Amino acid sequence: MEIRAAVLHEAHAPLRVETLTLDPPRAGEVLVRVAAAGVCHSDVRLADGDLGDGRWPTVLGHEGAGVVEAAGPGVEGLAPGDPVAFCFVPPCRACAACTAGRFNLCEVAGAHAWAGTMLDGTTRLHLADGRDVRHFNFVSCFAERCVVPAASAVPIPPGLPLWQAALLGCAVVTGFGAVRNAARVAIGESVCVVGCGGIGQQIVAAARMAGAGRIVAVDRDPAKLALARARGATDTVDAGAEDPVAAVLALVPGGVDHALEAVGSPATIRVAWDVIRPGATAVVVGIAPRGAEARVPALELLSEKALRGSYYGSGNAAVEIARLGRLMADGRLEVADTVSHLTGLDGIEEAFERLRRGSGARTVAVLDPAIAGAPDVAPGAAVVAV
Ligand SMILES: [Zn+2]
Ligand SMILES: [Zn+2]
Repeated sequence: MEIRAAVLHEAHAPLRVETLTLDPPRAGEVLVRVAAAGVCHSDVRLADGDLGDGRWPTVLGHEGAGVVEAAGPGVEGLAPGDPVAFCFVPPCRACAACTAGRFNLCEVAGAHAWAGTMLDGTTRLHLADGRDVRHFNFVSCFAERCVVPAASAVPIPPGLPLWQAALLGCAVVTGFGAVRNAARVAIGESVCVVGCGGIGQQIVAAARMAGAGRIVAVDRDPAKLALARARGATDTVDAGAEDPVAAVLALVPGGVDHALEAVGSPATIRVAWDVIRPGATAVVVGIAPRGAEARVPALELLSEKALRGSYYGSGNAAVEIARLGRLMADGRLEVADTVSHLTGLDGIEEAFERLRRGSGARTVAVLDPAIAGAPDVAPGAAVVAV
């Protein structure tokens, strides 16, 4: 079938909205009508060539929600009409990582994600001239429709607004998982969140839900800090106006129990390291550009400080996406306030520019207004005052 999609033809080139051919789903795959897609910094990283060469032409978009339209042979548990959120690591359940229960690190999914193919090594997307187009993390939801592995389509409760459910599969599961599975925040512990964009805002909410005591949010954008406070931060530090390390240590003498970094830059990783107490771990959630190195004073390792990464929530993302979707449906997990802008397929490039500048929390591209359930605003307009 023919679909409209935002295509990245080469690094640093603006996305081009054009008509592509999408093949039908093969065995173990489903066709999804995309309702809405979140625009995430990882999309920008790939578009800017920060994640390696030769990954184009490609359709970006790895965070979204939609409705199943067709299932390929052998698919169980998914039927046309089912609302789903995308999970961009479909675990094989057989590799060394999966058998150790570390589904987010599935080696098979990782290799195919990097190659930009489906799990059989081929692509369902083609340019009008017949050339193959790579998938991005099996999802490629900056498009009207996409074909994904069945394990990448997670059923969510009917009635959940899909423009909000779109955030489940990256920002929400990544942020909540970093707090629950990587940092393992305990009741009353102090948490510092460095970077309050799309994922940082979910980290703040997850820390509150985990029962954290002090939650110190650090950013350079006062609007994002105000939003973080509304979502549960007890203190905020404007890193554009004061030295963030000194400010956090003044608030929590001796250092915080957990720092989570959601920017992906050597400087902010160092802030996370510098604000933790002896024996604590700084968790890096942000994706740094290729070649960037994080440096810490080696002598401080004597105090048993540690630095670790957290990828895609450090757990079983599909299971947690479903559970978090249930919490959203029950009104116990709010995400609409983190959506700063709504746009369409044509506005994703503009959203990339906002992310490069660090302005706004999350842009959601509404691909299909009829099923997304989003408020009616002009394309590109701010939804809330962020
Ligand atoms: Zn993402
Ligand atoms: Zn695996």
